[in-house]
Amino acid sequence: MSNTILLIEDTESIRKEVREIIKNLPNIKRIIEAGNGIDGFRMLLENQVDLVLCDLVMPGMDGFKFLSLKESRSDLSDIPVIILTSQSDIRDKIKGLEHGASDYVTKPFDEGELTARVRVQLKIKNLQDELRATNARLAEISVTDPLTRVFNRRYLFEILEKEFDRALRYKSSLSFVMVDIDFFKRVNDRYGHQVGDQVLIDVANLVKEELRKPDVMGRYGGEEFGVILPETNLKGAWVVAERYRTRVAEYRFGTAHNQIRTTISLGVATFPDSRVRTVDELVKVADDSLYQAKNLGRNRTELSRPADAPDTPLTP
Ligand code: GH3
Ligand code: MG
Ligand code: MG
Ligand code: MG
Repeated sequence: MSNTILLIEDTESIRKEVREIIKNLPNIKRIIEAGNGIDGFRMLLENQVDLVLCDLVMPGMDGFKFLSLKESRSDLSDIPVIILTSQSDIRDKIKGLEHGASDYVTKPFDEGELTARVRVQLKIKNLQDELRATNARLAEISVTDPLTRVFNRRYLFEILEKEFDRALRYKSSLSFVMVDIDFFKRVNDRYGHQVGDQVLIDVANLVKEELRKPDVMGRYGGEEFGVILPETNLKGAWVVAERYRTRVAEYRFGTAHNQIRTTISLGVATFPDSRVRTVDELVKVADDSLYQAKNLGRNRTELSRPADAPDTPLTP
């Protein structure tokens, strides 16, 4: 861990003193300096700062104003500040802590004290950073399918519920596409599970590359994927699904001496539809359409229109 310290202090000799004391601490990459609160705040915004040492009495913007400004920005709230105060004034120390400082040191500095307090604040900051990174990683893991790295089924349905509610509320269209790899069992049987896994990953990536910005793809289970297409009607969804199908059909899977071709079948469902009042019914229609695509020979996209829908051709 290499840290950057921002030192805000108007007296050059004090800056030099502090610099001399802390520069030899382990894990310090950089010490940047400002002579007043305004410059200090600018440097805080422009640099990846891990700890601020801030004087209180400075011309222009003083330490309290600097602290208030920093407190107003939630993105800066995790950066600790140690205020540099004079021996006499206990009220300043209290006021500084109330303004969001994490600690204070008293001038003239005791080398050991300053070093120890800097060390403690950096340790806390570094632990917090680690914790935040771990939480972000856990949050990602909880929504990701470990094999294909697309969203998992739980998250896919979480999004589908939200999008369905939104479509209901705003009377907008929403489509759902079920994707199933054709004769995938044969791939496993012929080439083994490891190759099968790689084909699964490749299919997921091919479809993922075709996604438009608002579309969300997840692994539905086994060799099946679901794609949510917000603001997309039946015709739009059909065009999109066909793009996935063509992309996979044209792709050569496997290694140079082991070229595998594979195809996918797709079932499309769209809201609004007289048969669809819930998310489960939307998925059911997509599933039925997929079943039709399989029965009609695979490597194709099917949709089942509601009985009352006009039978407009989808292909030009
Ligand atoms: P269809 O065209 O009717 O969909 O035929 P299919 O062989 O693809 O369908 P079936 O449901 O009979 O077989 C699905 C296969 O997918 C069986 C299962 O072993 C395989 N499978 C499911 N999940 C995984 C996985 O994570 N890795 C591998 N390698 N295979 C998987
Ligand atoms: Mg001063
Ligand atoms: Mg299947
Ligand atoms: Mg299959």
